[in-house]
Amino acid sequence: MMMQHVFPTYNRFPFEIVSGNGFKLTDNKGMTYLDFTSGIGVCGLGYNVSKLNEAVEKQLGKVWHTSNLYESSLQESVAKKLGEAHGMIASFCNSGTEANEAAFKLARRATGKSEVLAFDHSFHGRTYGSLSLTGNDGIKEGFGPLVPGVSFAKYNDFAALDEINDQKAAVILEVVQGEGGVVVGDASWLKAVEEKAHEAGALLIIDEVQTGMGRTGKLFAFENFELNPDIVTVAKGLANGIPVGAMLGKKELAKFFGPGTHGSTFAGNPLAMAAADVVLDELNTEFLKGVSEKSDFIKFLLEQKVKNIDAIESISGFGLMIGIHLKETVDVSKVVSMLQDKGLLTLSARDNTLRLLPPLIMPASELMAGIEIITETLENILVA
Ligand SMILES: *Cc1c(COP(=O)(O)O)cnc(C)c1O
Repeated sequence: MMMQHVFPTYNRFPFEIVSGNGFKLTDNKGMTYLDFTSGIGVCGLGYNVSKLNEAVEKQLGKVWHTSNLYESSLQESVAKKLGEAHGMIASFCNSGTEANEAAFKLARRATGKSEVLAFDHSFHGRTYGSLSLTGNDGIKEGFGPLVPGVSFAKYNDFAALDEINDQKAAVILEVVQGEGGVVVGDASWLKAVEEKAHEAGALLIIDEVQTGMGRTGKLFAFENFELNPDIVTVAKGLANGIPVGAMLGKKELAKFFGPGTHGSTFAGNPLAMAAADVVLDELNTEFLKGVSEKSDFIKFLLEQKVKNIDAIESISGFGLMIGIHLKETVDVSKVVSMLQDKGLLTLSARDNTLRLLPPLIMPASELMAGIEIITETLENILVA
């Protein structure tokens, strides 16, 4: 099938995934895959999860949609589980880009300033505000003029601190850049950016859309670095695949987002909230500890067995977010296809990176099996 009735904004692989179970997916030709994508960092708890199915089905039989004109105990519950530990409250939306739009708006309104500092190779979404905050010129081409007031600095570079001045409403960053090629922030740099932002009266916005929801072994990746952001955005993994997003912000910011200042018809939809409520219960301390242990194991495996393969330039990652940077002469999209033929689904990212985002529930044995397929495939690639 060639898709003819949908805008060709995506290069699609020539198969359709028709069902899933746990960490396995099956396509329309009956081929089964081990999944190292989680639907781009979304289905951390895997597919066809009975606890989630039950929660959503139960809500499905009650009411699908109520609008935000009435109280919602589900929203209250999800917001509490997300933000309470960090003194934050939530504003719900339906995607990552919307969460960053809300963050951008709130930062301007709360500080009375308009400028934002973002970073090269960042990704924050594709609507105008978040596209304007995204450090990738390629995806902005032809869409200008963008939102004014945004400038960019080099990630992990201390010279960026000089760009943070009292004109800035906010500094926005990912603690691990995902689309940017799985670039991990240096702990001391992240801390210095936070300190400088707060000194300058700018809010620190951390985009946890990809890194959040347990991906790095903590609920939020910033917890690994003991950072203290003013605003945090989440989406992808929050409801394990039901569209949802949230902006979390310090309680003190509530007065700048009063009635009528922001909103969305679908935001905090009961089906999404029913799923998110269960997801957040599942991501308990013990589960997160398991994610950390598995990622330590994978890191060890990659160091020992994979790193020295000819086709590989370097390996980066944090938790179950891994980047295998291939040599310039190796075509990453070809590698992704080759792995598909061997029953493994993977992703690519900037800088010729083979990106791995396996479901968080995947046992170590299956993670090992996937790494084995990658090893075997990369070992057999001739590097020019
Ligand atoms: C995916 C992503 C977004 C955008 O989320 P959408 O739901 O696609 O709008 C924003 N920030 C980061 C870090 C992401 O990975």
